[in-house]
Amino acid sequence: MSSQPLSNADIAWHTLDLAKTVDLLSSDAETGLTESQVAERRQQYGLNELEEAKGRSSWEILLDQFTNIMLLMLIAVAIISGILDAIELRAGDAAANEIPFKDTIAILAIVVLNGSLGYLQESRAEKALAALKKLSSPRVRVLRDRKFSEIDGKDLVPGDIMLLEAGVQVAADGRLLDAANLQVRESALTGEAHSVSKNANLVVEEHTPLGDRANLIFQGTEVTNGRATALVTNTGMQTELGKIAGMLQSVESEPTPLQQRMSQLGNVLVSGSLVLVVLVVIGGLIRVGGFNWVVLRQLVEVSLSMAVAVVPEGLPAVVTVTLALGTRRMVRRHALIRKLPAVETLGSVTTICSDKTGTLTQNKMVVQRVDLVEHHFTVSGEGYIPQGDFQLQGKTINPQDYPDLQKLAIACALCNDSVLQHDKDGWSILGDPTEGALVVLAGKAGVDKEPLSRQMPRKGEFPFSSERKRMSTIVSGEAGFEMFTKGSPELILECCQTYQAGETLAELTPEIRTAILQRNNDLAAEGLRVLGVAVKPLNDIPPLEAEETTERELTWLGLVGMLDAPRQEVRDAVKRCKEAGIRPIMITGDHQLTARAIASYLGIAQEGDRILTGQELQQLSTEELEQHIGEVSIYARVSPEHKLRIVQALQHRGKFVAMTGDGVNDAPALKQADIGIAMGITGTDVSKEASDMVLLDDNFATIVAATEEGRVVYTNIRRFIKYILGSNIGEVLVIAAAPIMGLSQVPLTPLQILWMNLVTDGLPALALAVEPAEPNVMKRPPYDPRESIFSRGLGSYMVRFGVIFAAVTIVMMGIAYNYFPHWQTMVFTTLCIAQMGHALAIRSNSQLTIELNPFSNPYLLIAVTATTALQLMLVYVPPLQAFFGTNPLTGTELAICLGFSALMFVWVELEKLFMRIFSARHSVALPLD
Ligand code: ATP
Repeated sequence: MSSQPLSNADIAWHTLDLAKTVDLLSSDAETGLTESQVAERRQQYGLNELEEAKGRSSWEILLDQFTNIMLLMLIAVAIISGILDAIELRAGDAAANEIPFKDTIAILAIVVLNGSLGYLQESRAEKALAALKKLSSPRVRVLRDRKFSEIDGKDLVPGDIMLLEAGVQVAADGRLLDAANLQVRESALTGEAHSVSKNANLVVEEHTPLGDRANLIFQGTEVTNGRATALVTNTGMQTELGKIAGMLQSVESEPTPLQQRMSQLGNVLVSGSLVLVVLVVIGGLIRVGGFNWVVLRQLVEVSLSMAVAVVPEGLPAVVTVTLALGTRRMVRRHALIRKLPAVETLGSVTTICSDKTGTLTQNKMVVQRVDLVEHHFTVSGEGYIPQGDFQLQGKTINPQDYPDLQKLAIACALCNDSVLQHDKDGWSILGDPTEGALVVLAGKAGVDKEPLSRQMPRKGEFPFSSERKRMSTIVSGEAGFEMFTKGSPELILECCQTYQAGETLAELTPEIRTAILQRNNDLAAEGLRVLGVAVKPLNDIPPLEAEETTERELTWLGLVGMLDAPRQEVRDAVKRCKEAGIRPIMITGDHQLTARAIASYLGIAQEGDRILTGQELQQLSTEELEQHIGEVSIYARVSPEHKLRIVQALQHRGKFVAMTGDGVNDAPALKQADIGIAMGITGTDVSKEASDMVLLDDNFATIVAATEEGRVVYTNIRRFIKYILGSNIGEVLVIAAAPIMGLSQVPLTPLQILWMNLVTDGLPALALAVEPAEPNVMKRPPYDPRESIFSRGLGSYMVRFGVIFAAVTIVMMGIAYNYFPHWQTMVFTTLCIAQMGHALAIRSNSQLTIELNPFSNPYLLIAVTATTALQLMLVYVPPLQAFFGTNPLTGTELAICLGFSALMFVWVELEKLFMRIFSARHSVALPLD
């Protein structure tokens, strides 16, 4: 069978009936395409990819760099400095060995360099985003060569049969083959926020608008409910989404609160420095009593230097790099950050609300118990291998001898959407692990799902949802139609009237009901996840909306108890979490006793802790819920909408909440949470879209690891802000002191200041950004996310350090000015070298430098050594001397610089020592970071 060359985009698929559609696409609804057909079609249609919507052009990115206010100010400084040089040149005052317009050229070079760095960073960021998009490209379940498998969305070709279920993002346009309760949100295409119902059996008019083509599904839309299979009609740029260019949502890269505060700080500093310039010029002119060209020139030079000194030119780049590195470290620990602000705020999380299944447990279910009313079986066997023994009171039995057990096994196999398969890697399941465990159980009882589902094909269904906590399928067999139902035992039991006893039916008396519920509790208390299974003969296939009336008067088959072992690493993570002042909370759809058993094992709940069920929660008012929220560490039998209420109540109590979720209906709670966390493996596309972070391994321990990284990032950001801004304050004060002290020249040129701010401060600051975690990082309570970056002593430290730094340098400047010829180079060198000692001392707030392992941050050692070497080159290499306006220092001059520089290191160390003694005497806590 070879495929016909089609121009699929021109065909009005919605007007065709099913048979015609399958025929036109040369496909087969039973078997799917063959591998050779797939290869042939991939040649013909290409990959199922949308051409990237054009982002900003390189030119635009480049131009955007120069709208930064700090760079604009530097450009202004360069121009004014150029004008001064030009006037001097015309007047013939310029020194013979001076390079004309040196400052202007150098500042412009730094502007270009800074701009190019920004440009490179942004282009990199765009590339990283594109890579992220690829990573999050949806996976699709398809039927090919009679087998179900999961492939990348981009590998779909027209004619493929794809399976859709609630939560998936549709990866290509298609014609529905069958659909059960299918609802799709098509807002990406039609703008309509509500979900629309779909129906495979319809054929609609040619001119029906897109939103009403109920028999088609479209790429980029989201399945919000139900299940379906569909035949792919169009892929790539031929899909409806592809036709509307530029509609692709881009992955968000909003500035973090810190970046916003930094750009505000930039504005304040720039305006502040402009005010300083005006004040210095006017004040100076008034002092000399009128206009004087020489004085004006000097004042303008001082002002320009101060303007450049006050602005931390290197800071934005260091912040960006730190956040980027933080994101990278988090990915290495399996946490993918989708929204950059999360990197910074993760460290402030006070409460982690986690799902149970898959996050706290392994999500590898194995049925261990089957409880019929009259027989309680124990089942053995490992993993998904459909072989194992049934034991009754310690004796192995033959499951074929128990007709009620056989009936339950048939129900487990047919009321089921997952597939058990065997390949070279052994047995595995495709689909939900709970259902997988049931297919395996059926296999152990001698019921093979695949041939059975051909004998008894599915004719209808009421799909599973976390709200309904049950599902039913309707099959047709020799004895007519039959409905199998499974779900939460309490709910299923309520719908039953009779029970299966051997081959016959018996009445469910109140005593038997109580006994079943007791058994359910017993199994749940052992930590097992328990489902109830039931059956009902039907005369015909009920309509989709008749679930309430149909799922009644059922016959009870039995309880199935499966073990979902807790993840071992989570126990330790919970402990770390508690030590770090973070409260873990379990939220689960499962039974409260199952939840309690697992929560107790993991350390989430202690003896006597309160459990709140969804039903109880429903009856609480918002105020009541807020009152109780502090005592509850387990929420059981909850629905996704309860999650939203829980987050809101916690937030009202001032908590900073991280919340996990995987289903479509979890999206509102994920959006509401301060950090919404989606599951990378089991999560639906919709939940990922709503999240701030995706757990690549679905593991609770990863959340704790990411929180730790968040704390490290925040601490490091505070550390280098302290380092950079403290130095800026020092520089400004030193420059301002010069005219006050009556010095004849400006101590630092704009070029030297730029060098310090960008290179000699910038390199060590970058190294401080990768400082490893301090030992106490997860032993202290979280900080308030709304706190100012300058809180907890950071602001006062900066000012204190800046003033002392300036005082030490000014004393040195006074001595040098009077006794040494190269006083300006001495000031320049002292400011640079003092910062090297500062960088080493600032690594810890509480530990002295000698107590730290110097090699635990080798980057800092490299940065300090390289920066010192560069500074010495500037002082001693002649071409650099000419360019930066330095002079070679004599041995004595250099020794004086080093001596004064060392004072700053000693100061910071003494401060730590003083704090330590003070806090020990007065029993106050040291300011941890
Ligand atoms: P968590 O929220 O911790 O992930 P969960 O995965 O158990 O918990 P749901 O998937 O919403 O939460 O399941 C809720 C309940 O619905 C289960 O306890 C079970 O009784 C029932 N249930 C789960 N899966 C199925 C299924 N495939 N068919 C029928 N009932 C199910």
